[in-house]
Amino acid sequence: MNAQKLSKRLETVASFVPTGAVLADIGSDHAYLPCNLVHKGIVSRAIAGEVVKGPYESAVRQVRTEGLSEVITVRLADGLAAIHPEDKVNTVTIAGMGGPLIVSILENNPESLQSVTRLILQPNIHAKAIREWAIRNGWAIHDEAILEEDDKIYEILVLQRGQESYTEAEILLGKKLMAEKSPVFMQKWAREMANWERVLQSIEKAEATSEIETKRAELHHLIALVQEALT
Ligand code: SAM
Repeated sequence: MNAQKLSKRLETVASFVPTGAVLADIGSDHAYLPCNLVHKGIVSRAIAGEVVKGPYESAVRQVRTEGLSEVITVRLADGLAAIHPEDKVNTVTIAGMGGPLIVSILENNPESLQSVTRLILQPNIHAKAIREWAIRNGWAIHDEAILEEDDKIYEILVLQRGQESYTEAEILLGKKLMAEKSPVFMQKWAREMANWERVLQSIEKAEATSEIETKRAELHHLIALVQEALT
């Protein structure tokens, strides 16, 4: 992967960035995503935010090598603190982290989202945490995608401001993804259910404490929920 040729995962994230967007890419080691979008003429200006010094320095080097220092500002900052009001950022991408970490980044500096109209989030795990955050904070799930790369399955959530309600199954699986039932989606949930079945089998043998009973009931509930959603 490089700024010219993104991975399939980042290419899909990039495909949701509107033309003319002012972008902040948070957690932007190498700054491949903003560099790629500026080269393609999709993004006019961008911020690349990174909290760790090594990846931040890689991003600075990359932006310089690509000759984009005039249009991409790289900032060493924690999460949304990389966005300043005068940037007038309207689109934020956060990719390649766990859902709960993405949620904590969104919760830590909510004022940085004032000018933002679109969030493109790619959690490696626990997309559910992001859907729950969206419902709590007045964001609607505008679009969703699922893809497989290098034997890993990734979900991408595109949020825009709005209030929508979702069923328990839609929060877990994604409303659009659930309606589409793509082969990758079916594979993801078959894997999840196989994992839950394995855990159930192992706890069947354990002593029946109240925690074990709670876990067992929770797993049975999840399996029934997903089975129903898939049929
Ligand atoms: N976004 C790129 C991608 O999807 O390929 C990089 C993903 S990499 C696994 C996660 C990056 O996010 C790391 O460089 C890490 O240092 C950075 N990161 C983690 N927490 C962060 C935070 N609170 N603020 C900014 N960057 C963060």
